[in-house]
Amino acid sequence: MISKPYVLASRETQTEDTIVSVGNVKIGGSQLVVIAGPCAVESKDQIMETAAQVRESGAVILRGGVYKSRTSPYAFQGLGMKGLEFLKAAGEANGMPVVTEAVSPELAVQMMDLTDMFQIGARNMQNIELLKKVGVLGKPVILKRGPSATIEEWLLSAEYMLAAGTKDIILCERGIRTFETNTRYTLDISAVPVVKELSHLPVIVDPSHAVGFRDKVSAAGLAAVAAGADGLSVEVHPQPDKALSDGAQSLYPEQFNKLMRDIEAIAPVVGKIF
Ligand code: PEP
Ligand code: MN
Repeated sequence: MISKPYVLASRETQTEDTIVSVGNVKIGGSQLVVIAGPCAVESKDQIMETAAQVRESGAVILRGGVYKSRTSPYAFQGLGMKGLEFLKAAGEANGMPVVTEAVSPELAVQMMDLTDMFQIGARNMQNIELLKKVGVLGKPVILKRGPSATIEEWLLSAEYMLAAGTKDIILCERGIRTFETNTRYTLDISAVPVVKELSHLPVIVDPSHAVGFRDKVSAAGLAAVAAGADGLSVEVHPQPDKALSDGAQSLYPEQFNKLMRDIEAIAPVVGKIF
């Protein structure tokens, strides 16, 4: 008898950790993985340069948005499918699978051949038709927590995709909305051990969107690793001051490299291989 409203996502249904394979990368269990890249793909040169830098520091999956759900309609909206071609090429040139956000069921279908993993953005966590479609497509998915979603609502969104057919879901805590204004959102660190108890799915943390300011991203990322996260997703830009989106929270490549070396020191303490 399963006591939770989410069934397939529950630890009661599956006691062992789910390990998600993305290309040659495994996420979950004792592995610790870092996904890195710019908020948005801005040009071929920008994504190639970023990919080489984050790979050199030890990132194993390349991220980059090509359809950006911006708060303002006048802000940079992304390069679309052309950007995805650049992302895929940069991933291939550096031996990294790639992840990008799918913002609609139609675009998810179009993107199938050019991405190794989908991301469902925080704003779309309860876009039910998108969840169902991405679940049917069967590619690995990062499901971000909505900024106002409870853990139970988040796990029920994962349940939609599991029920539709995919097994490969990674949950990503990226900060929730609270009364605090010194950070962009509030990183719910305790969600990591809570979700790991409730679900067998891997849990990663995005410290970049959570805190919103680059000088605090590494502290939040290290805290997430210490809390037992299975990985991080970090925004890195070769020239954050010139970034077309989320520059304020994007790490300089040197800062990212320092964060990676600090993760190396913490990982063994929590029994992770890095
Ligand atoms: C992102 O990862 O680029 C992003 C837009 O994040 P979120 O959906 O968490 O705001
Ligand atoms: Mn971003």
